[in-house]
Amino acid sequence: MNNLYDLDNIFAKILRSEIPCNKILENEFALAFSDINPQAPIHILVIPKNPYINFYDFTKNASNKEHESFWKLVNDVIEHYKIEKEGFRIITNSGNNGNQDVPHFHVHLLGGENLGRMIG
Ligand code: AMP
Repeated sequence: MNNLYDLDNIFAKILRSEIPCNKILENEFALAFSDINPQAPIHILVIPKNPYINFYDFTKNASNKEHESFWKLVNDVIEHYKIEKEGFRIITNSGNNGNQDVPHFHVHLLGGENLGRMIG
């Protein structure tokens, strides 16, 4: 585990079942749940179950199996909502400049309406 990983971050608490979430799907290495403050009709967070701080940490240090499971779950959520054709947006914020609030790697999957330009 990255020694800068904050074990008390809110997604770590969700993974330990210390606080609830609205689970959509999960597999061995990843969990998908509803964002508590949705920015679009569909706003799902997908997180790895192991402790990675951000995209860079995950991409650099996760195993092939974790990568495969993570992105498979993202695609499973896309299929769950049947938004393959109409489209969606995937965002991941990292660090200060990315305005990342929760220091456990996650992607936001947004859809259900036209989301406008990338940065408004
Ligand atoms: P970020 O700024 O990319 O770190 O986004 C963190 C996201 O986590 C925000 O969109 C929050 O609305 C969301 N969030 C914070 N706490 C919870 C929670 N307990 N359950 C679900 N989503 C949460």
